[in-house]
Amino acid sequence: LGHIFMILVTGGAGFIGANFVLDWLAGSDEPVVNLDKLTYAGNLGNLASVQDDPRHVFVQGDIGDTALLDGLLKQHRPRAIVNFAAESHVDRSIHGAEDFIFTNIVGTFRLLEVARSYHAALIEPEKAAFRFLHVSTDEVYGSLTPQAPAFKEDHVYEPNSPYSASKAASDHLVRAWHHTHGLPVLTTNCSNNYGPYHFPEKLIPLMIVNALAGKPLPVYGDGQQVRDWLYVKDHCSAIRRVLEAGRLGETYNVGGWNEKANLSIVHIVCDLLDELSPRRDGESYRTQITHVTDRPGHDRRYAIDARKIERELGWKPAETFETGIRKTVQWYLANPEWVQSVQSGSYRDWVATQYGST
Ligand code: NAD
Repeated sequence: LGHIFMILVTGGAGFIGANFVLDWLAGSDEPVVNLDKLTYAGNLGNLASVQDDPRHVFVQGDIGDTALLDGLLKQHRPRAIVNFAAESHVDRSIHGAEDFIFTNIVGTFRLLEVARSYHAALIEPEKAAFRFLHVSTDEVYGSLTPQAPAFKEDHVYEPNSPYSASKAASDHLVRAWHHTHGLPVLTTNCSNNYGPYHFPEKLIPLMIVNALAGKPLPVYGDGQQVRDWLYVKDHCSAIRRVLEAGRLGETYNVGGWNEKANLSIVHIVCDLLDELSPRRDGESYRTQITHVTDRPGHDRRYAIDARKIERELGWKPAETFETGIRKTVQWYLANPEWVQSVQSGSYRDWVATQYGST
């Protein structure tokens, strides 16, 4: 029996998953099987640079498809599963939560069940080495008041949106499969990511793309909602570190100690664009900012206390917000074809339901 040298990533055609797969293959010889349903958020263009790499096996499919998963595990025998697959956009979860329930809750449940029987059939030393890493969000903890301390791992779960409720449910299932069934799980709860390949329905890429297209920059309510931001490659390095050395059954909060109000994010993006790609009329992109009705139930503040992963696992982000946001804006300026390719018909329809125009 050959030793296991392969990981299974789910949702690896999405924003964080694709960055994870690209970074993984850049830093290791270990192959990746990438299972992704290719919803509107999944894009094989994110993986173009590893399309012909024999270490990358892409499979289109659903984490809720038990037979497919079972076959994949038996065929490839991964030493770890890293679960990124999810419906991830809060606004979409407000318009309709069903996909969130099916993928984030039922899908995670099915993945756990298949992983459980696969793990049970492994023999040592592979059995002891196996890991199920579940990628989650700080939004499960709910909203913080301005003065409250940042979220630690033992913070009470108080999800407020259908999205965060579905992620909270998946976190609980992962926890239960460890405590009840002995599945060797790890969970990461990360703050807002930004960086390359971020779908332009989310704040930062939406602002970059709309600014360059001369469109309004829609800011919810007063724009004073505070989020904690982490460059996506730093999130990926944290996941690799937890996979390598995390204690079984533990959760690790991942964040960059970068709390910023949404409006100041938009200002920073505009100022960088003014510098790197100025408007022809010499005006600032800030003039395109328009305030729109706030999102229902909009959480006021999230903040991550990342001391556990820093102390226990020696992880630290490589980027500050200033260096990461500059790289991000530069990436969008350098990749207009990618932006164009993701702005398909379904994207335009979604933008129209949100803002009444494309
Ligand atoms: P994303 O929406 O960009 O990508 C999700 C990917 O999952 C897509 O490629 C999609 O096709 C795939 N997918 C959806 N349903 C599937 C299913 N049933 N089976 C298989 N694949 C499916 O999301 P993201 O921003 O890359 O987030 C990845 C994970 O990280 C999610 O679990 C999310 O909750 C978590 N997370 C995201 C952030 C953030 O700021 N984006 C922060 C913390 C945690």
